Amino acid sequence: MNLPPLRACFQAIDDESERYDLGEVVYHSRSGALLEVRHDLAALKAQRTAHAWRNLFDSRSGRTSYPYGSGVWSKMEIVQPHVQPENVVSLFEGNTNLFWADRYGKQLGLTDLWIKQCGTSHTGSFKDLGMTVLLSTVKQMIADGKPVRAVACASTGDTSAALAAYGAAAGIPVVVLLPQGKISAAQLVQPLANGALVGSLETDFDGCMRAVKELTKDKTIYLANSMNSLRVEGQKTLSYEIAQQFDWQVPDWVLVPGGNLGNVSAIAKGFLEMRELGLVDRLPKIACCQAERANPLYRAFKKAESEGRPLAETDFAPLVAAPTLASAIQIGAPVSLPKAVRALVELGGVVEQASEEELAEAVARADRTGLFNCPHTGVALACLEKLVARGTIRAGERVVVVSTAHGLKFTEFKTRYHEGKLDFPSKHANVPVSLGDDPEKVSEAIHRALDARS
Ligand SMILES: *Cc1c(COP(=O)(O)O)cnc(C)c1O
Repeated sequence: MNLPPLRACFQAIDDESERYDLGEVVYHSRSGALLEVRHDLAALKAQRTAHAWRNLFDSRSGRTSYPYGSGVWSKMEIVQPHVQPENVVSLFEGNTNLFWADRYGKQLGLTDLWIKQCGTSHTGSFKDLGMTVLLSTVKQMIADGKPVRAVACASTGDTSAALAAYGAAAGIPVVVLLPQGKISAAQLVQPLANGALVGSLETDFDGCMRAVKELTKDKTIYLANSMNSLRVEGQKTLSYEIAQQFDWQVPDWVLVPGGNLGNVSAIAKGFLEMRELGLVDRLPKIACCQAERANPLYRAFKKAESEGRPLAETDFAPLVAAPTLASAIQIGAPVSLPKAVRALVELGGVVEQASEEELAEAVARADRTGLFNCPHTGVALACLEKLVARGTIRAGERVVVVSTAHGLKFTEFKTRYHEGKLDFPSKHANVPVSLGDDPEKVSEAIHRALDARS
């Protein structure tokens, strides 16, 4: 079959006529607005029927034929059609487990609760989904003769880990700017191990962001923070995977923790495009879940709700986010706010919040049913519990919670919880029992402990 090339471009979100080639080094519109990747959906529809697209995606996902086995690149035509397959930088991201949370769901009165385990990925968070698209585009730019010396980001954790891994896999230099003394050993070791140039700055995350913007004024240093809409394109495949894993059925609800709000925007974009292409026949409702200590979108949502009208960008006021256990969403001025507002309006979404104690207890409760959650997922789980209690989410509805990172990246938080060292009592604390070395005494003590538990 000889098919015409599929076209996609960057387009300003506030002006359809302002467009750029995906190989151009451009991060925002002339007026400073965000860009988004626009696909030629009419051409995609003309090229294959919805049935044929679904079959194509299903036939590729999880197989070994590079790069199409990847959860992202199995949908290459609707993600980044301009990268030649030999320039794709993939670590077989995506295709993450969609876990039926049977016991946890029953405890909440839900029969159809699922957790999308995005942390079961190469660098342990959903950030891999966007980074593969960004680095592949950069590798294509280099192949096309564009001068790129390095790719750079400001980060406190998961973004730098993903960028460093994909840069190393591609052999493209990576620069990571981190706030000195505010990074744990676990967060530091991923980019160090992958050989990134790690800059330790005497400032906070916002200061690192200012520095990376200055650094990337030189167009040979490509910016990898999430204002770069190539990241959103990879992350939107999360929605495609959820639909695919339910045999192209759409759940009633998708809940996701929100910080910079790129992910909630990406998930909505995915479902809206799938409906446009006829791959699915309806949209889910979406819940963006914020930490109470970093809740600017929640405040805006409540303001609009109290005035009895839909959320608007003008409801929003930035704030200084306070330290939270959910450190990856400690953001007071989210970059993707305009996209998130649009996403929530189009999908009839809600915004909920969780306190430190609520998120930690939700993590612990769910862990007791076999999960191993990060604190950000805990925010989404605590919000789920509230939305169920309030009747917003009903017992028989199919619910998907997006788990954004692996719990093993946040063992410090989990250890402190179980040792009872957080700022509130831990209801499900569990510590090792000291048993000496005498097998008989060990055995007796175990029986006593089991009796006490039953
Ligand atoms: C980046 C990140 C988030 C927040 O995603 P946004 O797109 O910034 O809203 C949530 N959880 C984890 C673990 C993350 O790394």
